[in-house]
Amino acid sequence: MIRKEGKARWVFTCEECAVHATYPDHFRAIERKQRHVQTFKHFGNSIGATVRETFQPLMDAFGWGRLAPWQEQAFARSLWEDLK
Ligand SMILES: [Zn+2]
Repeated sequence: MIRKEGKARWVFTCEECAVHATYPDHFRAIERKQRHVQTFKHFGNSIGATVRETFQPLMDAFGWGRLAPWQEQAFARSLWEDLK
C-alpha cells in the first residue's frame, strides 16, 4: 500500500512482509511496490494462509499433523513456479 504522509514523503508498506519504506516521490514508491510484489518472499507471505487452507485438510486426512514451515515454503514455491 502506498500513501502520502506529507510533503515529499511517500510511504510504501506491506503488512504481510512487515515492509515499511519512505520515498521523496510517488514514482519511486510505486517502483518499489512493483518490485516488491514480484518477489517470492511477498508471494509466500500473501499465499501462506491459502496454502494452509488448501493443504492442511489433506495433511489431516493422512494424519500428518501440521504443515511445517519448510513444507509451506515448498508448496508456495511450487505454486509460484506454476504461475510464472
Ligand atoms: Zn509483501
